Amino acid sequence: MNSTSKTAAKTVLISGASIAGPALALWLHRYGFTPTVVERAPELRTGGYKVDIRGTAIEVCRRMGVLDEIRAHSTDMRGGSYVDDAGRTIGELPADIFGGRVEEDDEIMRGELARILYDRTREDVEYVFGDSIAALAEDADGVTVTFESGTVRRFDLVVGADGLHSNTRRLAFGPEERYKRHLGAYISIFTAPNHLGLDRWETYHALPGKLVCVYSSSGETDAKNLFVFSSPELAHDPRDVTAQKRALTDTFTGDGWEIPRLLGHAAEADDFYLDSMSLVEMDSWSRGRVVLLGDAAHCASPASGQGTGLALIGAYVLAGELARAGGDHTVAFARYERHLRPGVEQNQKMAEGFVKEMTVASKWKIALRMFMVRTLPKTPWKNLIAKKIRDDIQAAANAVPLVDYTAPAAARTTARPTVTA
Ligand SMILES: Cc1cc2nc3c(=O)[nH]c(=O)nc-3n(C[C@H](O)[C@H](O)[C@H](O)COP(=O)(O)OP(=O)(O)OC[C@H]3O[C@@H](n4cnc5c(N)ncnc54)[C@H](O)[C@@H]3O)c2cc1C
Repeated sequence: MNSTSKTAAKTVLISGASIAGPALALWLHRYGFTPTVVERAPELRTGGYKVDIRGTAIEVCRRMGVLDEIRAHSTDMRGGSYVDDAGRTIGELPADIFGGRVEEDDEIMRGELARILYDRTREDVEYVFGDSIAALAEDADGVTVTFESGTVRRFDLVVGADGLHSNTRRLAFGPEERYKRHLGAYISIFTAPNHLGLDRWETYHALPGKLVCVYSSSGETDAKNLFVFSSPELAHDPRDVTAQKRALTDTFTGDGWEIPRLLGHAAEADDFYLDSMSLVEMDSWSRGRVVLLGDAAHCASPASGQGTGLALIGAYVLAGELARAGGDHTVAFARYERHLRPGVEQNQKMAEGFVKEMTVASKWKIALRMFMVRTLPKTPWKNLIAKKIRDDIQAAANAVPLVDYTAPAAARTTARPTVTA
């Protein structure tokens, strides 16, 4: 592979139409590049739980012009509670600890965010659904991409924004096992009827090595069910939904509270999602004309709560650096990685701790936590503790500083941005 050519890149193939992919497409189009997004799913995937946008990512969304729409679709959470086996409330968690109503934290359903980004870009950007990259062949001037459909096309650059199980990473960098570190737990999310009648409220039930949560957000008639459980890596194919549903049922059969009913809904869910809580750790995020973005490059597991923010910030920085370097990927990819990596590593470190907290193994540790949940809101230092939690989260959310690429005001311009780092 030869990647020393200094000609300005114009055409960019992005694999993955979730968060990172459409966000990058928006910025690239604004800077005068021609992005194409290929998504393996036949249509936009709108499943998933609520995701947080905090710190640097809020300003990035403002600059993308989507912040107001994100806020209009806020989950508007009031709070949550832990319940025991019989459904009795053990203790309540106020919204200022949860974050749904805190000014410096915007919370939206993942699927809504994906839809907003897609709607903002679909008229200016070519989207190809139901296809996937089968092979990449790079030469001095570009990359020849063969798609699974048999189509063959040329692009100047290829970006893998295709998530934890990135196809682009596998093709350009080698097998997933080399880069993915399973953190010892799985997460499953799916939509189900709101039979608990929750209104912008989250109900948790903790068991040894497991956590179940039912949740309903603003404007939703249905509820989201979330299951987290400790497990060594499962042998099934990450795309085999039947095997995933079986794994969930096997793990939770025999457990109490509402779990049997929730498992029944899992069987019927058409947006069922289950994946390993993992980190992606790589020495470099680019190779020649191919670069990785979002979870494909540096998944911090859903536990970090920063995966979506980092994907949005990464898209902003990658596009900004490409524009600033006049399309010279050899310069832009290095700057993009240098800027993002320290903040990414800080968030990944936090994620490891969060996974352990979500899957506390022993009954007495759960009992201790329930004692704290029950007593904390009555203590005089509750605000101090809430502040400490918020400060830690904000520090992580601001770990990647904002670079000020003064973007051209209007789209469809090829002007380079001025940079004031
Ligand atoms: C359906 C779904 C539900 C999710 N639910 C949650 C959640 O509830 N909470 C949470 O914290 N995180 C969730 N995530 C992950 C979250 O979206 C990411 O951690 C974060 O937003 C970073 O996004 P990303 O765009 O880098 O990767 P992802 O959001 O993982 O997106 C990757 C995209 O690439 C596509 N793709 C995969 N393989 C290929 C291929 N071969 N060719 C083309 N496209 C491909 C996928 O279909 C997907 O659209 C979910 C992801 C998905 C896809």
